[in-house]
Amino acid sequence: RNAGLGSWPERRLRISPNRPAIWFEGATTTHGEFAHRVRRAAAALSALGVGRGDRVAWLGANHPAALETLYACGQLGAVWVPVNARLTPPEVRYVLEHSGTSLVVHGREHGTTADTLRAELPAVRTWVAGETPLAGGADSLDWQQLLADAEPQPRDEPVTPDDPCLIMYTSGTTGRPKGAVLTHGNMTWSCINQAFGLDVTPDERTLGLAPLFHIGGLNGTVNPTLLRGGCAVLVRGFDPPATLAVIVDQRVTSFFAVPTMLDALSRRPDFGAVDLSALRTIGAAGAPLPLPLLRTWLDRGITVQQAYGMTESAPAGTMLDSVDAVAKVGSAGKPQFFVDVRVVRPDGTECDPHEVGEVVLSGPNIMAGYWNEPEATAAAIVDGWYHSGDAGSTDEDGYLYIRDRYKDMIISGGENVYPAEVESALLELPEVLEVAVIGVPDPHWGEVGLAVVVPAPGSDPDPDRLRAELRTRLAAFKVPKHVEFADELPKTATGKVRKPDLRSQYVPQEE
Ligand code: ATP
Ligand code: MG
Repeated sequence: RNAGLGSWPERRLRISPNRPAIWFEGATTTHGEFAHRVRRAAAALSALGVGRGDRVAWLGANHPAALETLYACGQLGAVWVPVNARLTPPEVRYVLEHSGTSLVVHGREHGTTADTLRAELPAVRTWVAGETPLAGGADSLDWQQLLADAEPQPRDEPVTPDDPCLIMYTSGTTGRPKGAVLTHGNMTWSCINQAFGLDVTPDERTLGLAPLFHIGGLNGTVNPTLLRGGCAVLVRGFDPPATLAVIVDQRVTSFFAVPTMLDALSRRPDFGAVDLSALRTIGAAGAPLPLPLLRTWLDRGITVQQAYGMTESAPAGTMLDSVDAVAKVGSAGKPQFFVDVRVVRPDGTECDPHEVGEVVLSGPNIMAGYWNEPEATAAAIVDGWYHSGDAGSTDEDGYLYIRDRYKDMIISGGENVYPAEVESALLELPEVLEVAVIGVPDPHWGEVGLAVVVPAPGSDPDPDRLRAELRTRLAAFKVPKHVEFADELPKTATGKVRKPDLRSQYVPQEE
């Protein structure tokens, strides 16, 4: 199915060399320079014993070295393993062991992690500092020096589209992250889908804001833009005021974000005043997008293209076309060009419009499987369809509306309640800054909703008043029976609320 496509980084290396490829902390690298560095990086990794199929990890915040290691691995047929930079050393150790990584390139915050894990993990033969560590890491090799000393060699064995390109661990929103094996073909097709869906052009200046170790950060807009010959404006991580300044100064044209990031940006006091005239579109996905938030950006004249996808689909799935942003507000759009997406009943037949079922996906972007987890793979991919575990429905025009994860659905008195809908309604209330709704056992209803609310600054909401307000907007069975207040919500690195953590906090008897 992928015959003749070749390896994924090679697609990119056809780009005109003098155009900007990466902007990072004030320095611009052209596509030609980037290609040159990637060839040197491949030679350096090869000289350190990295060959076809070997796993090479990147552990750090967003940095050009992350992309250099990815593309260099691609050239060698080695497998890139991006590790969540927020993990603690024992969690990093799990990922490195589970993936069988033999070489780690780390960022500046991970020098001491490298020092700690070096003795514990003999299978990792080499530790390299991608940039000067802030602390520790004195025994790590120096990436910049390795590249300077490298002697690029012609490669003998071509990489094929079915070869693994990377192992990307899922966000871990619902449990322990799983390692999705994405092939060169998966990467190519997902980037083509994304570039097509977001109308990416060689003039794109996309902001690399979400972590590159998650699929939205990597392939939401950054890789599609590089593939298309545009420029990735990389920031280390999400700092709302600094990020807004980069968007303005660098005349950013697009970016990918999860809803919590859009929320934080739109709450900046200068949000209404800054010059966002270059900003063409935002791809938003990863979690339910509350309608009030969506309207805030649309009112500012900026297109928000809600998309739906996951690590396992690299992440192409559905996307709202820019022309539909207003008419189909709230929808995650239609299947992307080279992906099939359906909503099905438990028996596999397709749902009628407005009937809620499980969203399933099929296409050349769907992962080869979970790394070393054959049972989980067999459960997830059935007859070529990836089963998302997400509940959704389409309208009569075929536009998809995501309800929520089935795992998070609350069954109250026999009625299905999708927490995302209740959260969206609660966010309409000015006293609510953030909220997560989970199900808790109830002797009468089986399960009822519990809303964990972070109050807006300066407000002191009353639970009964919040519930009464909701009652005017939602059917009674959807209104949470309980309301608790918290200073913050537990979140993943991409800003998704970790509901298992909330459940163990508020429903201790469950596990
Ligand atoms: P884990 O699989 O480890 O529990 P995760 O599912 O959050 O974590 P990702 O692959 O990053 O890991 O996220 C994909 C999931 O994000 C989807 O399955 C879906 O539940 C959710 N999601 C993605 N886009 C949307 C959207 N537009 N609206 C609602 N939910 C979305
Ligand atoms: Mg998942």
